[in-house]
Amino acid sequence: MTTLAEPPRHQFQLDANRTAADGDRRAAVRKALHNYSSARDKTGATFNDWKSARNAASAIKHEAVNHLDRYLEEFESKFTARGGKVFWASDSKQARDYIIDLAKRKSVRAIVKSKAMTGEEIHLNQALLEEGFGVVESDLGEYIQQLKGEAPYHFVFPCMHLRRDEISDLFHKELGTAKTDSPEELTMIARRVLRRAYIDADMGISGGNFIVAETGMISITENEGNARLTVGLPKIHVALIGIEKVVPRLADLALFLPMLATAGTGQHMTGYNSMYGGPRQPGELDGPEEFHVILLDNHRTRLLADPEQRDALHCIRCGACLNVCPIFKNIGGHAYGTTYQGPIGSVITPHFRGLEDWKHLSGASSLCGACTETCPVGIDIHHHLLHNRRNAAAQKPAKGEQLLWKAFAFLMQRPALYRLASRFAPLGSLLHPLVSGSPLDPVRSWTSTREFPHAPMRSFRDQFREHQAAKKGVASSGTQQGAKR
Ligand code: SF4
Repeated sequence: MTTLAEPPRHQFQLDANRTAADGDRRAAVRKALHNYSSARDKTGATFNDWKSARNAASAIKHEAVNHLDRYLEEFESKFTARGGKVFWASDSKQARDYIIDLAKRKSVRAIVKSKAMTGEEIHLNQALLEEGFGVVESDLGEYIQQLKGEAPYHFVFPCMHLRRDEISDLFHKELGTAKTDSPEELTMIARRVLRRAYIDADMGISGGNFIVAETGMISITENEGNARLTVGLPKIHVALIGIEKVVPRLADLALFLPMLATAGTGQHMTGYNSMYGGPRQPGELDGPEEFHVILLDNHRTRLLADPEQRDALHCIRCGACLNVCPIFKNIGGHAYGTTYQGPIGSVITPHFRGLEDWKHLSGASSLCGACTETCPVGIDIHHHLLHNRRNAAAQKPAKGEQLLWKAFAFLMQRPALYRLASRFAPLGSLLHPLVSGSPLDPVRSWTSTREFPHAPMRSFRDQFREHQAAKKGVASSGTQQGAKR
């Protein structure tokens, strides 16, 4: 688990180094992602025209994000008209306080929760436990991570890094069950515990995949049916959703639901797709008596205020960019130390949690562009990483690096000086081993994982000149021989 005992940048380096050296863990992640890739390729191919679908999705999200005020208010008025309650939370504290206060006022004892990355974002479980409320995660992957005391590894596949035997050992240790290698049996163990949790809970908490302005409803997609039980059984329900999840019309889901399933898990459609429009209405047999939706800002409006990077709010959290990212595959999800891992996490976290502390994430990219290519809503992710790098450099220039580039520019503009300097470059290669790794080594952080580049003894310019001279020599001796004949 990432404890962030160190400043984020150092912790990231430590965790990334550790995971990159853990061959078993990387193999487990690779295997999980290989299964995902083949399923996604197969399902993606059944879209008549994936490119047009992507453009349409991007246009809808552009419309929604650029008119958030209008669409969110439309949602609020329709949702509250059916008896639902909407709370606008500007930050994590407001959202946590609202839920804790509600739970206290309603004498809640036990809470069941379905997957909500917004809950992770505001550290909700920890806050509820500190206040004495029992909280059980009902998504299988999240439940496993909760038992393990770890944050989710991936925001779609929370325990993708764990092998079956590790899960069996965990259940054996925490629940006292017999060890088993059968995925069905492992699922049944969790199911037995979780069924009890739904029945005991007075409050259910969920996230939400989409907010539909037109109908005043939220949409939740899931594969286990746990979110349905989390919403349907307890008498109070709270859905904690980021404000960017809004879409204008119900018909938009005809595109987004299959798209999310394809990009996220390689399915045609996710197992359960439910719409919730408020508390139980007269004549209805189930559903909560109270339904609260918390619209979470938590610095999303800071990102909205940036016209260059605003489209990062188009993200539908499918996780596809993580699945194709070579960095994620090697360092894993926990190394990021953030709620949202991978390429999109590296783009948005500096906006959500501060550029100075989180700029290093934008450096952890090969800029291969695989994330941008796979993103179903067409976010230009790798260029946003470059924007973050640029902004970080402008905000707090690295003095040493600035000096280096200034010296480079100075030399490049003075050919004679450049030639002279390149004559001395091999000296650097010869001297570097003497200081390598010591505090006197000016490039030690760079060379700790790379070889120091060796400058050739003869520069390209020298070699070219010699080559030309040799060519001329051959030509003139040919002419002389021809003249003699
Ligand atoms: S940025 Fe795109 S690919 Fe990544 S999680 Fe969001 S929608 Fe999916």
